[in-house]
Amino acid sequence: MASPSHRRSLRTRRTVLVSTAAVAAAGLGAAVFAMNANAGAVDLAHQVLPAKDGWAASGTGTTGGAQADSAHVFTVSTRAQLVKALGSATNSTAKIIQIKGTIDANTNDAGKKLTCADYTAGTGYSLAAYLKAYDPATYGRSKLPSGTQEKARAAAQAAQAKNIVFKVPANTTLVGVPGTNAGITGGSLQAKSVDNVIIRNLTFSATEDCFPQWDPTDGSTGNWNSAYDSVTLRGATHVWADHNTFTDAPHLDSANPKYYGREYQIHDGALDITNGSDLVTVERNQFTNHDKTMLIGSSDTDSVGKLRVSIHHNVWKGIVQRAPLARIGQIHIYNNYFDTTTINGYAPLYTVNSRAKAQVVAEFNAWKLPSGGKAAKLLSGDGTGSVAGTGNLVNGTATDLVAVYNAANSKKLKTTVNWKPALTAGLQTTAKNLATELAGTAGAGVLTK
Ligand code: CA
Ligand code: CA
Repeated sequence: MASPSHRRSLRTRRTVLVSTAAVAAAGLGAAVFAMNANAGAVDLAHQVLPAKDGWAASGTGTTGGAQADSAHVFTVSTRAQLVKALGSATNSTAKIIQIKGTIDANTNDAGKKLTCADYTAGTGYSLAAYLKAYDPATYGRSKLPSGTQEKARAAAQAAQAKNIVFKVPANTTLVGVPGTNAGITGGSLQAKSVDNVIIRNLTFSATEDCFPQWDPTDGSTGNWNSAYDSVTLRGATHVWADHNTFTDAPHLDSANPKYYGREYQIHDGALDITNGSDLVTVERNQFTNHDKTMLIGSSDTDSVGKLRVSIHHNVWKGIVQRAPLARIGQIHIYNNYFDTTTINGYAPLYTVNSRAKAQVVAEFNAWKLPSGGKAAKLLSGDGTGSVAGTGNLVNGTATDLVAVYNAANSKKLKTTVNWKPALTAGLQTTAKNLATELAGTAGAGVLTK
């Protein structure tokens, strides 16, 4: 699995982690320090973001719950245990939550499986009645659904949200216990207006909205929109999302029905970074089997001076778009591998979109383009976003993707940016071996300690 150069980089990384912990130990509890000393290395749950590892290393860095006392180190295997360990969203006590196995968010406090029908209880919602009420043929296309069935849909959606949205407080590490297929299925982790969060070694699957909303004004033909991202950062700062896997499986978009001629989309984002979120490092994740994968900025006016995100050593495979869709911020995309083959019906539209004056530096990434695919379609933009950077490969060949894109499109990408990345630990100045390397080192289940 690991090439010699990869083993070398792992050793380097271990050293960095230990020295970071030693520096941080001055401010840590004695128990944590003793445990670290005994282990000879910091255990997975107590690891902190290495120095200079992307934007999340800026300023105070990202330590998550590393300073937790022993009363705030939890191991959870059920939804109810996870909710209890997270506690109040405004409680900033440092905490480490180790997830063992897969937690099904669609279960009640007693662990009983909940279906979409369970969330409609007492609301009066039915899809058939909803479809009848807002059929464009009778309701028209000029206004959003309102009235009895829309109220009922919103109530049912709120019931599901109450169950599946997990609010992550400040100073929290959420980490999967190695060897247990750790993760959350059907859930949405939400870090809202909090600082210092680590999310590692978890598989996020099947985040599904039972109650998509019809918006006849979305695009020229209307769209069904869903509410939940697997991980959603809203006004969150210092977040390290590392070694996770994101997938729609087992219900893939190809199984979505169509209503009013549009796909009844039950998925929203995989990892969305919006509403003035800032200082985020997205590292060694696998994004797969998904459409709208990563939004940075929720609108073209989201938040100026924030939305600074580093995205490195991730695999993007079998995804349709937003890898990421970048707005406004200073965004560093390096050493990623994008496989743009259509997989499981997920047919790529583009990978990186730079719009709303986004200042993207994309360097030393590798793209796989299937036979017949067009390099000019790998990027996207609105004519105001920038994409700078060199060293990118398409099918192993050095390619100026921006030049190729601009030659074929009228809304051209700008080629200069207003910043120079400085927090670049681990940056490799060749993308040549990324496909092989990342196949064995990105995603959940790779970390063993
Ligand atoms: Ca949406
Ligand atoms: Ca979203």
